[in-house]
Amino acid sequence: MVEGLPGNGEVAARLELMGDLLEIEGAVRHRVLAYRRGAARIRATPESVAALAVAGRAVELPDIGATLQDKVAELATTGTIGALDRLCSRVPPGLAEVARLPGLGPRRARALFEQAGVTGLDGLRRALAEGRLAGVEGIGPKTVAALEAELAARDAAPADALAPLGRALPAAERVAAALAAATGARVEVAGSLRRGADRVKDVDLAAASDDPEAVHRALAGLGLVDEVLTEGPEKTAVRTHDGLRVELRTAPPDRFGNLLQHLTGSRAHNVRLRELARRQGRSVSEHGIVDAEGRTATSPDEAGVYRELGLEWIPPELREDRGEIEQARDGRLPRLVEVGDLRGDLHTHSTWSDGTATIAEMAAAAAARGYDYLGVSDHSRSLAMAGGLDPDRLRRQWEEIARVQEGVSGVRLLRASEVDILADGRLDFDDEVLAALDWVTASVHSAFRQPPERITARLLAAIEHPHVDAIGHPTGRMLGRREGYAFDVDRVLEAAARTGTCLEVNGQPARLDLDAALARRALEAGVRLIVSSDAHSTDALGFVRNGVLVARRAGARAEDVANTRQWPGLRD
Ligand SMILES: [Zn+2]
Ligand SMILES: [Zn+2]
Repeated sequence: MVEGLPGNGEVAARLELMGDLLEIEGAVRHRVLAYRRGAARIRATPESVAALAVAGRAVELPDIGATLQDKVAELATTGTIGALDRLCSRVPPGLAEVARLPGLGPRRARALFEQAGVTGLDGLRRALAEGRLAGVEGIGPKTVAALEAELAARDAAPADALAPLGRALPAAERVAAALAAATGARVEVAGSLRRGADRVKDVDLAAASDDPEAVHRALAGLGLVDEVLTEGPEKTAVRTHDGLRVELRTAPPDRFGNLLQHLTGSRAHNVRLRELARRQGRSVSEHGIVDAEGRTATSPDEAGVYRELGLEWIPPELREDRGEIEQARDGRLPRLVEVGDLRGDLHTHSTWSDGTATIAEMAAAAAARGYDYLGVSDHSRSLAMAGGLDPDRLRRQWEEIARVQEGVSGVRLLRASEVDILADGRLDFDDEVLAALDWVTASVHSAFRQPPERITARLLAAIEHPHVDAIGHPTGRMLGRREGYAFDVDRVLEAAARTGTCLEVNGQPARLDLDAALARRALEAGVRLIVSSDAHSTDALGFVRNGVLVARRAGARAEDVANTRQWPGLRD
């Protein structure tokens, strides 16, 4: 933060709002995108963009042209952006939030404003309650029902201060990288985020430096930081523009391993380590390991800390006091699956359903990741809202897959599908269609509120189906939005193990489904997992990293995850 100037988060929020309102007004696509790209760039810039703009140097950043720079400089010097104020007088700013509701979008948001006087979420609630949406263009009874369900779910969800792993981890790594770049110190993400927890309350950073004051000061001064909560010398706490609370502690490089180990936890794991040390007549803390004579052993890396205690280094994802300390003592720790072990991704979407990238673009991105295969698994027809394919369109998609394949070497494109498990347990395609697919993931996308016996029966029917290879996001949970549906976990695991049907660990930030606890139970029941991105864009192929973290927390080795295999072996 630079005193007196708007922070990068505030600047970005204004530009995003401009993009959203221009879109609702019907501006050309590239103008809208220019504001959105600029805002994303500003959010991820470690220096004050307002200061750069005032000095005429913001244009040196990618995605920031002269128009955006002028607006940022205007905001920095006058506190407002005239063009945004004028835009707000034509398009109520509350409509931006309305447009983001699932199933609405800018055009319907504008119709709601023009034809029902809706200017924001509260107005939309009132209009729904008073039944005033009938007759608004593009808003049928189905959309009304979906809106009511969505708004009710938001009211029911507890105000949730927890950030999901998939959002917190990249944000924390951005801060760590910016701090390392600003100071030359080694900076690592620690805490529950490093252990791969689903959701985190805050982010712990550990830095190695002989000049702790400089590191604490540098964190407080980063452009990514919105607010400094407490500053040094022991600890600095800040809030970033994406709302994440970040706490930094430092140690001299010779005992950085002790600090990182201590901050990574978990509490239960560290308690067991202290017990183990006490039996050896020693004590453990972030400052080092002290023996009976008062001598302190320190280590620049974590492996040295564990070695001092007679243990192998323990992967952070296993540090939950579930027997990992005994395994480390006896040299029995599993070699956990890694992102680099994955040979392909079998659950991805393209523009044929609700993805944003073409098959060719997804294939190129898969090749860039070094994959051997990519399952093009668009939705089936019942998921009409997501552009699900009927058998005719599916066959035409196969023609495109074949065409794209001709121009792509290295990656085998597979005819896959994410087929709906319908409310009565049938699948959304006939056996004949399913038999022609290379890989079938079956997922529940509807009728979540059925009684547990019904949901269990649907899942079992899909698992027992001879053409189903995997069950997608098996519990249907959405982090911070809805719990998974209730079903008989033991029966589902038993059937999956018996039939060889994989259960997915879906890496989408909002899903992480199975979670680590269920994935662990699945492995214990003899079920093979599959780690997928469920990508709807090329970048989202990277979501497999979240899935791999969950699988590692479950103790999964490469051989426990089906898509670490080459395609011919996996198919058989
Ligand atoms: Zn799905
Ligand atoms: Zn999907």
